[in-house]
Amino acid sequence: MAVEGYLRARPRRVRWREWLRGRRYTLASFADRERPLVVVAHSFRDAARVGQLVAAVEEDWPRVPESCREAYEEILRKAPAVLVVQLRRTNICGCLAHRHVLVKEAPFAEPHEALEGAPAGEMDIAFDRVEGWLASPLMDTALDTQFIAGSRLEEFRAQQLRLRLLSILLHEAHHMVYSQDPEDSVRGRSLAFYREALAAYVENTRATMSLTIDRSFSRLGRD
Ligand SMILES: [Zn+2]
Repeated sequence: MAVEGYLRARPRRVRWREWLRGRRYTLASFADRERPLVVVAHSFRDAARVGQLVAAVEEDWPRVPESCREAYEEILRKAPAVLVVQLRRTNICGCLAHRHVLVKEAPFAEPHEALEGAPAGEMDIAFDRVEGWLASPLMDTALDTQFIAGSRLEEFRAQQLRLRLLSILLHEAHHMVYSQDPEDSVRGRSLAFYREALAAYVENTRATMSLTIDRSFSRLGRD
């Protein structure tokens, strides 16, 4: 998709004003499909946060179990070609994310050839809220205590956060595609995605760790 070229081809004046305001766009694509393309709209201060979201889409999506990807196959196929994510730190209302009925991010507000002539979809994600959110309280806590003694705790927490971001992105995409689906079923699917993906990550980590000598991790074994 020609989004990058489209953004660069806009009038210099417009791009300058955007730059001075601190507005940046970072693209992320799913490895197994050309669309939707994720366009993260963010402040220049949030580059590290954006990096997490991009890694979730580009690196974690291909690694989650097949069944997790299948659950969103149709949704991603029917999703707008461009998914704009306004990355914020927090939301006044306290929500983790919203989908926007109208696209507010200026360059994507109108259908454009480079955006495949169709309207983009837009959502916001409140990064710091997601970071503090216990998606699945019992499971998160149980896994946390298993990892607490391990040298991999930090890595685990980072993975957990990225899978949350990914599940929220998919959750909002689901709302966009099937706006009639009740919140319960939309949430059920995204939580199942999160739980399964996280469980698979823990499983894999266990498997690799058992091949190396890392005593701090032995609590995860069946002993
Ligand atoms: Zn929802």
